[in-house]
Amino acid sequence: PARPIYAEQLPAGLQTISNIVAVSSCKGGVGKSTVAVNLAYTLADMGARVGIFDADVYGPSLPTMVSPENRLLLMNPEKKTIIPTEYSGVKLVSFGFAGQGRAIMRGPMVSGVINQLLTTTEWGELDYLIIDMPPGTGDIQLTLCQVLNWWTSIVLFLNHTLTSVIGLEPSYIVPLTAAVIVTTPQKLSFIDVAKGVRMFSKLKVPCVAVVENMCHFDADGKRYYPFGRGKNVDKLMVVQQFGIPHLFDLPIRPTLSASGDSGVPEVVADPQSEVSKIFQNLGVCV
Ligand code: ADP
Repeated sequence: PARPIYAEQLPAGLQTISNIVAVSSCKGGVGKSTVAVNLAYTLADMGARVGIFDADVYGPSLPTMVSPENRLLLMNPEKKTIIPTEYSGVKLVSFGFAGQGRAIMRGPMVSGVINQLLTTTEWGELDYLIIDMPPGTGDIQLTLCQVLNWWTSIVLFLNHTLTSVIGLEPSYIVPLTAAVIVTTPQKLSFIDVAKGVRMFSKLKVPCVAVVENMCHFDADGKRYYPFGRGKNVDKLMVVQQFGIPHLFDLPIRPTLSASGDSGVPEVVADPQSEVSKIFQNLGVCV
Protein backbone atom coordinates (compact mmCIF):
# COMPACT_ATOMS: atom_id res chain seq x y z
CA PRO A 1 0.00 0.00 0.00
CA ALA A 2 1.10 3.55 -0.69
CA ARG A 3 2.70 5.28 2.28
CA PRO A 4 1.80 8.81 3.27
CA ILE A 5 4.25 11.61 2.65
CA TYR A 6 4.31 14.46 5.09
CA ALA A 7 4.59 17.25 2.56
CA GLU A 8 5.99 19.90 4.88
CA GLN A 9 9.11 17.77 5.47
CA LEU A 10 10.06 17.53 1.79
CA PRO A 11 12.19 19.83 -0.36
CA ALA A 12 10.01 22.63 -1.79
CA GLY A 13 9.84 21.18 -5.29
CA LEU A 14 8.42 17.87 -4.07
CA GLN A 15 5.85 19.18 -1.59
CA THR A 16 2.89 18.93 -3.92
CA ILE A 17 3.49 15.33 -5.04
CA SER A 18 1.47 12.57 -3.39
CA ASN A 19 3.41 9.48 -4.57
CA ILE A 20 6.95 9.07 -5.89
CA VAL A 21 7.53 5.74 -7.61
CA ALA A 22 11.00 4.62 -8.75
CA VAL A 23 11.27 2.32 -11.78
CA SER A 24 14.62 0.61 -11.58
CA SER A 25 16.76 -2.14 -13.13
CA CYS A 26 20.26 -3.40 -12.51
CA LYS A 27 21.10 -3.70 -16.20
CA GLY A 28 20.56 -1.43 -19.18
CA GLY A 29 18.39 -2.45 -22.10
CA VAL A 30 15.85 -4.55 -20.16
CA GLY A 31 12.97 -2.15 -20.84
CA LYS A 32 13.03 0.01 -17.72
CA SER A 33 12.31 3.27 -19.54
CA THR A 34 9.61 1.57 -21.62
CA VAL A 35 7.88 0.37 -18.45
CA ALA A 36 8.31 3.77 -16.73
CA VAL A 37 6.81 5.70 -19.64
CA ASN A 38 3.96 3.21 -20.04
CA LEU A 39 3.15 3.25 -16.35
CA ALA A 40 3.05 7.04 -16.43
CA TYR A 41 0.76 7.27 -19.46
CA THR A 42 -1.45 4.43 -18.25
CA LEU A 43 -1.96 6.32 -14.99
CA ALA A 44 -2.62 9.57 -16.85
CA ASP A 45 -5.19 7.74 -18.95
CA MET A 46 -6.87 6.60 -15.73
CA GLY A 47 -7.25 10.27 -14.77
CA ALA A 48 -4.23 10.86 -12.51
CA ARG A 49 -1.96 13.91 -12.60
CA VAL A 50 1.42 12.48 -13.53
CA GLY A 51 5.03 13.54 -14.08
CA ILE A 52 8.08 11.62 -15.31
CA PHE A 53 11.56 12.39 -14.03
CA ASP A 54 14.28 10.84 -16.19
CA ALA A 55 17.17 10.41 -13.71
CA ASP A 56 19.60 9.01 -16.28
CA VAL A 57 21.92 11.93 -16.86
CA TYR A 58 24.43 9.94 -18.95
CA GLY A 59 21.92 8.37 -21.34
CA PRO A 60 18.52 10.04 -21.07
CA SER A 61 15.84 8.10 -23.02
CA LEU A 62 12.79 10.26 -22.32
CA PRO A 63 13.49 12.67 -25.24
CA THR A 64 13.39 9.67 -27.64
CA MET A 65 10.38 7.97 -26.12
CA VAL A 66 8.21 11.06 -25.76
CA SER A 67 8.24 13.96 -28.20
CA PRO A 68 6.79 17.12 -26.68
CA GLU A 69 6.39 20.17 -28.90
CA ASN A 70 8.63 22.17 -26.60
CA ARG A 71 11.84 20.18 -26.23
CA LEU A 72 13.52 22.55 -23.76
CA LEU A 73 12.98 23.04 -20.06
CA LEU A 74 12.32 26.68 -19.19
CA MET A 75 13.70 28.57 -16.19
CA ASN A 76 11.66 30.91 -14.03
CA PRO A 77 14.37 33.55 -13.46
CA GLU A 78 12.63 35.15 -10.46
CA LYS A 79 12.02 32.00 -8.46
CA LYS A 80 15.04 30.20 -9.98
CA THR A 81 12.86 27.20 -10.67
CA ILE A 82 12.56 24.85 -13.65
CA ILE A 83 9.32 24.62 -15.60
CA PRO A 84 8.79 21.07 -16.94
CA THR A 85 7.84 20.42 -20.53
CA GLU A 86 4.65 18.47 -21.19
CA TYR A 87 3.26 15.87 -23.57
CA SER A 88 -0.32 14.67 -23.55
CA GLY A 89 -0.88 16.08 -20.06
CA VAL A 90 2.15 14.40 -18.46
CA LYS A 91 4.91 16.68 -17.11
CA LEU A 92 8.41 15.72 -18.23
CA VAL A 93 11.87 16.53 -16.90
CA SER A 94 15.04 15.04 -18.34
CA PHE A 95 18.63 16.20 -18.68
CA GLY A 96 18.02 15.56 -22.38
CA PHE A 97 15.64 18.55 -22.36
CA ALA A 98 18.21 20.80 -20.69
CA GLY A 99 19.86 22.05 -23.89
CA GLN A 100 23.50 21.39 -24.63
CA GLY A 101 24.75 19.90 -21.40
CA ARG A 102 28.19 18.59 -20.66
CA ALA A 103 28.79 15.10 -22.01
CA ILE A 104 31.49 14.33 -19.44
CA MET A 105 30.66 14.76 -15.80
CA ARG A 106 32.19 13.50 -12.60
CA GLY A 107 30.07 11.84 -9.92
CA PRO A 108 29.48 14.90 -7.71
CA MET A 109 28.42 16.97 -10.74
CA VAL A 110 25.91 14.32 -11.72
CA SER A 111 24.51 14.28 -8.19
CA GLY A 112 24.19 18.06 -8.31
CA VAL A 113 22.35 17.97 -11.63
CA ILE A 114 19.91 15.28 -10.43
CA ASN A 115 19.32 17.13 -7.18
CA GLN A 116 18.64 20.41 -8.97
CA LEU A 117 16.41 18.95 -11.67
CA LEU A 118 14.32 16.98 -9.18
CA THR A 119 13.92 19.45 -6.35
CA THR A 120 13.77 22.84 -8.10
CA THR A 121 11.21 21.84 -10.71
CA GLU A 122 7.76 23.36 -10.42
CA TRP A 123 5.95 20.01 -10.56
CA GLY A 124 2.67 21.46 -9.35
CA GLU A 125 0.02 19.17 -7.88
CA LEU A 126 0.83 15.59 -8.93
CA ASP A 127 -0.72 12.28 -7.90
CA TYR A 128 2.33 10.37 -9.19
CA LEU A 129 5.88 11.21 -10.08
CA ILE A 130 7.48 8.28 -11.90
CA ILE A 131 11.26 8.27 -11.65
CA ASP A 132 13.05 6.45 -14.46
CA MET A 133 16.18 5.47 -12.51
CA PRO A 134 19.54 4.92 -14.24
CA PRO A 135 20.49 1.21 -14.40
CA GLY A 136 22.44 -0.35 -11.54
CA THR A 137 22.78 0.01 -7.81
CA GLY A 138 25.58 2.53 -7.97
CA ASP A 139 26.27 6.11 -7.13
CA ILE A 140 23.40 7.83 -8.86
CA GLN A 141 20.72 5.69 -7.23
CA LEU A 142 22.15 6.24 -3.79
CA THR A 143 22.44 9.97 -4.38
CA LEU A 144 18.85 10.09 -5.48
CA CYS A 145 17.67 8.15 -2.47
CA GLN A 146 19.79 10.31 -0.22
CA VAL A 147 18.28 13.45 -1.71
CA LEU A 148 14.93 12.03 -0.80
CA ASN A 149 15.98 10.55 2.51
CA TRP A 150 17.94 13.38 4.12
CA TRP A 151 14.66 14.94 5.11
CA THR A 152 13.25 11.59 6.02
CA SER A 153 15.93 10.95 8.60
CA ILE A 154 14.92 14.09 10.48
CA VAL A 155 11.29 13.09 10.34
CA LEU A 156 12.13 9.56 11.42
CA PHE A 157 14.14 10.82 14.37
CA LEU A 158 11.31 13.09 15.55
CA ASN A 159 8.80 10.41 14.80
CA HIS A 160 10.67 7.83 16.88
CA THR A 161 11.21 10.22 19.76
CA LEU A 162 7.58 11.25 19.82
CA THR A 163 6.20 7.77 19.37
CA SER A 164 8.39 6.32 22.12
CA VAL A 165 7.25 9.08 24.49
CA ILE A 166 3.57 8.68 23.61
CA GLY A 167 3.88 4.90 23.28
CA LEU A 168 2.49 4.54 19.75
CA GLU A 169 3.80 2.27 17.01
CA PRO A 170 6.34 4.27 14.96
CA SER A 171 5.20 4.88 11.40
CA TYR A 172 7.98 4.99 8.85
CA ILE A 173 7.75 7.85 6.44
CA VAL A 174 9.65 7.52 3.19
CA PRO A 175 9.42 10.00 0.36
CA LEU A 176 9.86 7.24 -2.24
CA THR A 177 6.46 5.59 -2.03
CA ALA A 178 7.45 2.42 -3.87
CA ALA A 179 9.89 0.83 -6.28
CA VAL A 180 9.16 -1.28 -9.36
CA ILE A 181 12.03 -3.43 -10.64
CA VAL A 182 12.31 -4.40 -14.30
CA THR A 183 14.25 -7.44 -15.50
CA THR A 184 14.44 -10.01 -18.32
CA PRO A 185 14.15 -13.79 -17.79
CA GLN A 186 17.89 -14.63 -17.77
CA LYS A 187 19.25 -16.02 -14.52
CA LEU A 188 21.76 -13.22 -14.14
CA SER A 189 19.02 -10.67 -14.33
CA PHE A 190 17.28 -12.28 -11.39
CA ILE A 191 20.46 -12.19 -9.32
CA ASP A 192 20.56 -8.50 -10.14
CA VAL A 193 16.97 -8.10 -9.05
CA ALA A 194 17.97 -9.38 -5.62
CA LYS A 195 20.67 -6.66 -5.46
CA GLY A 196 18.13 -4.00 -6.36
CA VAL A 197 15.61 -5.23 -3.81
CA ARG A 198 18.29 -5.20 -1.08
CA MET A 199 19.27 -1.64 -1.95
CA PHE A 200 15.71 -0.40 -1.71
CA SER A 201 15.02 -2.35 1.46
CA LYS A 202 18.07 -0.71 3.12
CA LEU A 203 16.51 2.60 2.21
CA LYS A 204 13.17 1.42 3.59
CA VAL A 205 11.50 1.72 0.19
CA PRO A 206 9.03 -1.11 -0.48
CA CYS A 207 9.44 -2.99 -3.77
CA VAL A 208 5.90 -3.58 -4.92
CA ALA A 209 6.47 -5.38 -8.19
CA VAL A 210 9.00 -7.08 -10.43
CA VAL A 211 8.28 -6.86 -14.15
CA GLU A 212 9.76 -9.68 -16.21
CA ASN A 213 9.98 -7.99 -19.58
CA MET A 214 10.35 -9.52 -23.06
CA CYS A 215 9.44 -12.91 -21.59
CA HIS A 216 7.72 -14.24 -24.71
CA PHE A 217 6.10 -13.37 -28.02
CA ASP A 218 3.32 -14.99 -29.96
CA ALA A 219 3.59 -15.74 -33.67
CA ASP A 220 1.78 -18.13 -36.03
CA GLY A 221 -0.41 -19.28 -33.18
CA LYS A 222 2.60 -20.38 -31.12
CA ARG A 223 4.32 -18.88 -28.06
CA TYR A 224 8.11 -18.38 -28.18
CA TYR A 225 10.47 -17.73 -25.24
CA PRO A 226 13.53 -16.00 -26.78
CA PHE A 227 15.44 -15.71 -23.48
CA GLY A 228 14.34 -19.05 -22.06
CA ARG A 229 11.56 -19.34 -19.55
CA GLY A 230 13.39 -17.96 -16.53
CA LYS A 231 14.25 -20.15 -13.60
CA ASN A 232 11.30 -20.90 -11.39
CA VAL A 233 13.67 -21.20 -8.43
CA ASP A 234 14.90 -17.66 -9.01
CA LYS A 235 11.38 -16.37 -9.33
CA LEU A 236 10.31 -18.08 -6.14
CA MET A 237 13.32 -16.60 -4.36
CA VAL A 238 12.38 -13.10 -5.43
CA VAL A 239 8.78 -13.53 -4.43
CA GLN A 240 9.29 -15.44 -1.17
CA GLN A 241 12.66 -14.34 0.18
CA PHE A 242 12.07 -10.69 -0.48
CA GLY A 243 8.35 -10.69 -0.01
CA ILE A 244 7.66 -9.03 -3.37
CA PRO A 245 3.97 -9.42 -3.79
CA HIS A 246 3.78 -9.33 -7.58
CA LEU A 247 5.75 -10.67 -10.51
CA PHE A 248 4.43 -9.55 -13.89
CA ASP A 249 5.18 -10.76 -17.40
CA LEU A 250 5.38 -8.17 -20.14
CA PRO A 251 5.61 -9.89 -23.53
CA ILE A 252 7.55 -8.57 -26.51
CA ARG A 253 5.14 -6.28 -28.33
CA PRO A 254 6.36 -4.85 -31.64
CA THR A 255 4.03 -1.88 -31.15
CA LEU A 256 5.70 -1.06 -27.83
CA SER A 257 9.11 -0.87 -29.47
CA ALA A 258 7.81 1.18 -32.40
CA SER A 259 6.09 3.62 -30.08
CA GLY A 260 9.28 3.99 -28.02
CA ASP A 261 11.20 5.00 -31.14
CA SER A 262 8.54 7.29 -32.55
CA GLY A 263 8.15 9.48 -29.46
CA VAL A 264 4.44 8.74 -29.15
CA PRO A 265 4.07 6.52 -26.06
CA GLU A 266 1.80 3.54 -26.31
CA VAL A 267 -0.80 3.61 -23.60
CA VAL A 268 -1.59 0.20 -22.24
CA ALA A 269 -4.93 1.36 -20.98
CA ASP A 270 -6.64 -2.00 -20.88
CA PRO A 271 -7.36 -2.45 -17.16
CA GLN A 272 -6.61 -6.18 -17.48
CA SER A 273 -3.15 -5.58 -18.98
CA GLU A 274 -0.10 -6.56 -16.98
CA VAL A 275 1.16 -2.98 -16.78
CA SER A 276 -2.12 -1.70 -15.40
CA LYS A 277 -2.15 -4.46 -12.79
CA ILE A 278 1.02 -3.09 -11.21
CA PHE A 279 -0.87 0.01 -10.33
CA GLN A 280 -3.89 -1.82 -9.13
CA ASN A 281 -1.51 -3.53 -6.73
CA LEU A 282 0.02 -0.26 -5.65
CA GLY A 283 -3.40 0.51 -4.25
CA VAL A 284 -3.96 3.22 -6.80
CA CYS A 285 -7.31 4.92 -6.74
CA VAL A 286 -7.55 7.82 -9.14
P1 ADP B 1 16.25 0.38 -20.57
O1 ADP B 1 15.52 1.61 -20.09
O2 ADP B 1 16.21 -0.75 -19.59
O3 ADP B 1 17.62 0.65 -21.09
P2 ADP B 1 14.45 0.55 -22.85
O4 ADP B 1 13.13 0.77 -22.20
O5 ADP B 1 15.15 1.73 -23.44
O6 ADP B 1 15.43 -0.20 -21.84
O7 ADP B 1 14.24 -0.60 -23.93
C1 ADP B 1 15.28 -1.02 -24.79
C2 ADP B 1 14.68 -1.29 -26.19
O8 ADP B 1 13.82 -2.42 -26.12
C3 ADP B 1 13.86 -0.13 -26.72
O9 ADP B 1 14.09 -0.02 -28.10
C4 ADP B 1 12.41 -0.56 -26.45
O10 ADP B 1 11.51 -0.01 -27.38
C5 ADP B 1 12.51 -2.07 -26.57
N1 ADP B 1 11.53 -2.77 -25.71
C6 ADP B 1 11.49 -2.78 -24.36
N2 ADP B 1 10.48 -3.57 -23.90
C7 ADP B 1 9.85 -4.07 -24.99
C8 ADP B 1 8.73 -4.96 -25.19
N3 ADP B 1 8.07 -5.52 -24.16
N4 ADP B 1 8.36 -5.26 -26.45
C9 ADP B 1 9.07 -4.72 -27.49
N5 ADP B 1 10.11 -3.91 -27.38
C10 ADP B 1 10.52 -3.57 -26.15
